[in-house]
Amino acid sequence: MGKALIIGCGGVAGVAIEKCCQNSEAFTEICIASRTKSKCDALAKKLSGSATKITTAQVNADDVDELIALIESVKPDVVLNLALPYQDLHIMDACLATKTSYVDTANYEPEDTAKFEYKWQWAYREKFKEAGIMALLGSGFDPGVTGVFSAYAMKHQFDEIHEIDILDCNGGDHGYPFATNFNPEINIREVSAKGSYWENGHWVETEPMEIKREYDFKGVGKKDMYLLHHEELESLALNIKGIKRIRFFMTFGQSYLTHLRCLENVGMTSIEPINYNGMEIVPLQFLKAVLPDPASLGPRTVGKTNIGCIFRGVKDGKEKNYYLYNICDHQECYREVGSQAISYTTGVPAMIGAMLVMNGTWFKPGVFNIEELDPDPFMDALNKWGLPWEEDFSPVLVP
Ligand code: NDP
Repeated sequence: MGKALIIGCGGVAGVAIEKCCQNSEAFTEICIASRTKSKCDALAKKLSGSATKITTAQVNADDVDELIALIESVKPDVVLNLALPYQDLHIMDACLATKTSYVDTANYEPEDTAKFEYKWQWAYREKFKEAGIMALLGSGFDPGVTGVFSAYAMKHQFDEIHEIDILDCNGGDHGYPFATNFNPEINIREVSAKGSYWENGHWVETEPMEIKREYDFKGVGKKDMYLLHHEELESLALNIKGIKRIRFFMTFGQSYLTHLRCLENVGMTSIEPINYNGMEIVPLQFLKAVLPDPASLGPRTVGKTNIGCIFRGVKDGKEKNYYLYNICDHQECYREVGSQAISYTTGVPAMIGAMLVMNGTWFKPGVFNIEELDPDPFMDALNKWGLPWEEDFSPVLVP
């Protein structure tokens, strides 16, 4: 029973908000606030039959004073940040000033440098603890459910985990030669960066897309996947004690990669501003404007996602392998909430994280990554709210 302020009203927020309304026992009231208020109003109208009371507001989440004024007027129990990673620190500052707990799905990244790291948000640990409020970082799917899966494997399946491979497979087809499934700017910054993985206590860096493997995914079939740097690697390398290696792989189709390479070669993925007809523009932001809006992919995307973690370690003195994953169907998501599975698999865990902080199940003062909390209530909630998980005790390993 509580009130959430949700900031952002894009693809992920659309699902999280719809799920909050399905879960009106927990979310008695929500306020949707974003840069473009008309989107918030349209969603509130669509969900007006829900038992959850919905209000809307306009906010520039880059302006801390505006955020403080909004939080003071709404008085939420939790702020769920579903805007972009650039806004994380502003929203955390406003939460501190108003002593309000905070949840997000992506770690902070400065807008002018394509480099995401937890150090900026971890620097708030003492301040949040002293203020008696909680920040839950990374409550999406990856990061998010992958951290919960890791905590669950550690708690119930292993004495020691030595290796984790996180596999993110999107077997969906939207019919476009090139489109991204979530915010194009954030997506392209992530996949065009150098890859890296954690091994024996240090980071190993790779060229973008240098390491390729093929994997046969249940529910999807064989796909090429590529090693990327991904934000949960940083926190899991610290929080899963005794871990020796942790890697992250994501599937990409040939058409996506060919287009991406071409766009990179002509400079369209650059975040360096250029002068065009007397106006300063960022090529990647211009590219975002001409690409399909991820929210529009819902009706045309068919196929499934399969995202999960393969663990290797020891239980009762014996070596053990274990795979935890979720399969999600794009069209089923669309029928339920009008969105494709990428927004769905992020929006559902965002709602669950906000619920567990708000209802006190997970609440504790400080700044935490999701694997630091008890995984069991989250795992139960995944089954209940649309992302049931499956286990495999003899998975094929990734070479
Ligand atoms: P969208 O671009 O669809 O939505 C972003 C929303 O934030 C838009 O409504 C946008 O407003 C709003 N916004 C942007 N800047 C501001 C601002 N300064 N003030 C107020 N509102 C603002 O993105 P997605 O929904 O695809 O992604 C949302 C978040 O989820 C991102 O941080 C992304 O990295 C994260 N994510 C996490 C995943 C995970 O598994 N952990 C997976 C996928 C995404 P407007 O409508 O005006 O543009």
